[in-house]
Amino acid sequence: MSERELREQMALHAKSLFDRGYTCGSSGNISVRLADGMLVTPTNSCFGRLDPDRISKIRWDGEHVSGDKPSKEAFLHKAVYESRPDEQAVVHLHSTYSVAVSCLKNIDAGDVLPPITAYYIMRVGRLPLIPYYPPGDESLAAEVQSVATQSRAVLLANHGPVLAGKDLDSAVYAIEELEETAKLFLLLQGQEIRNLTPQQCDELRSRFPS
Ligand code: ZN
Repeated sequence: MSERELREQMALHAKSLFDRGYTCGSSGNISVRLADGMLVTPTNSCFGRLDPDRISKIRWDGEHVSGDKPSKEAFLHKAVYESRPDEQAVVHLHSTYSVAVSCLKNIDAGDVLPPITAYYIMRVGRLPLIPYYPPGDESLAAEVQSVATQSRAVLLANHGPVLAGKDLDSAVYAIEELEETAKLFLLLQGQEIRNLTPQQCDELRSRFPS
């Protein structure tokens, strides 16, 4: 896909996420890997009206090549690309239900959401929790880089999910699946849940390897 097509695809997915309430205001950021850097949504940009030509292009060393000034959270995307060399796109949202789960006490930090549906296991898999850091704190990058080697999705405590995919479509679909699973998990609070068994999860992982 050409850089032009990637820019247009980013704007289309961003608008779709915004229109369906997965993000609001100027929160959230999307990136796509390029040979020598990445395209990333600009700082303070709104997913509802991204101009493909103004999407930021930055090199791995941080040099700003074109478009508007990049998101302050671009370092999160770089950290994921460094630890997951096969992934081509990263999406980070402040989506309501995932953020709500990220604020709960007594969740399993090794894997926050239980295996309640097959599609969650197939598209997301595991969701480790990363401790809270204030916005822009770059020590978060080292933490994300380390945990992302084991999982394509991570949840930043009191903040939101970051998820990588083999292309932008699969990263967006997976973060939507994550958000819906967080919503189900919260709907089911206080009730006995019949989770998928470890054998059922293993069978899905072998039939649909990520
Ligand atoms: Zn954020």
